[in-house]
Amino acid sequence: MSNLKSYLEDPFLLKLWQEIRKVDAIKSISLDITHRCNLRCTGCYYFEEGMDRYASPEEEGLFDAFIEKEKERGTNFVTIVGGEPSLVIDRMRKIYANFKCSVATNGIIRIPKDGLEELPIGVSLWGSQATDSKLRVQGKMDLFSKALKNYHHDERAFWYYTAAPGYADEIPDVVEKCVDNGNAVLFNYYSDVAGLGGKLDYRMGFDEVRKNIDLMIERYPDQILMTRYFNEVVSTGEMSGQKWGYDVCTNVSVNNPINTERLQNGNPYNKHFNAFCADFETTRRCCTGMTRDCASCYDTWEHFSWIMLHSRKHMHSKEAFTNWLTTVYTFYLINRLVDPVAGRKVLAKIHTDTLLTA
Ligand code: SF4
Ligand code: SF4
Repeated sequence: MSNLKSYLEDPFLLKLWQEIRKVDAIKSISLDITHRCNLRCTGCYYFEEGMDRYASPEEEGLFDAFIEKEKERGTNFVTIVGGEPSLVIDRMRKIYANFKCSVATNGIIRIPKDGLEELPIGVSLWGSQATDSKLRVQGKMDLFSKALKNYHHDERAFWYYTAAPGYADEIPDVVEKCVDNGNAVLFNYYSDVAGLGGKLDYRMGFDEVRKNIDLMIERYPDQILMTRYFNEVVSTGEMSGQKWGYDVCTNVSVNNPINTERLQNGNPYNKHFNAFCADFETTRRCCTGMTRDCASCYDTWEHFSWIMLHSRKHMHSKEAFTNWLTTVYTFYLINRLVDPVAGRKVLAKIHTDTLLTA
């Protein structure tokens, strides 16, 4: 009997496997839907590398033509980023009408339900009220409270909480506020693109962040949208004997010549993926940068892709396969590619019943 067949004798694993197999293969892109933003967060990767120089055209026809071109190319999933997507709601509606998608927003402007009823919304957050405000608006606004109000019990929204090494102790209180607000939480790991150091320095390591995330998974098993395995992989940069970095990174733009060598090095990559700038034409090296140092990259979405494209490396034991499958399922749940209500019960079971160790 093949390994896979024997693992799928487990009814829970079989259920997860069948759920993800029902979904069409993901052919994704990331799109800067606008170059404008109503904030200037400290160390924002977008402005740090001046990506706003690729300005978004005013002509709606160019945006419509981009949508048509991507449909023809076979794209079926768009990660909407920017700039701040909530500044261009009508364009967001057009994407939603044509593709599966998710959006990242800073939470200042509430994304309406009209025409965006099931949109997965990741609301960015960088720490407690004080930390988030200090890092993102120089203490001038209580951004977290505003976003809490905007997304109070909005089932589309989850917090995209970027935790920095020196602020790991804030995690339990921040998560409690998010959960009390009726929203789940997905973690990201602060990369300190601007090289500010101190409490933000990724070189301090993410051990404390990892421990607190694991604690949150234990405390709120149906609310934390990542597996312990995923947390381990991102925070250590290791997966099945591979070390994270550009050579293995799977989400690099396939039509950008800067990546030619990477795409030929034999490591798996997402064969459809392009990260489009706001001019709807230029692609950058990857979602999170043009030329940034990959050593600072702890980005959550890229690590999901890294794990997802390495099913074979997780076939050697039931434990490894469980870690892979539950992580993939969680990605599908975040993006509402599986039933979001039933999926939260499955998530609780993933966090409490399965092996889930690295
Ligand atoms: S809200 Fe997002 S795009 Fe705008 S400055 Fe902050 S991190 Fe950058
Ligand atoms: S910065 Fe991260 S996502 Fe971009 S190429 Fe480097 S490792 Fe990949």
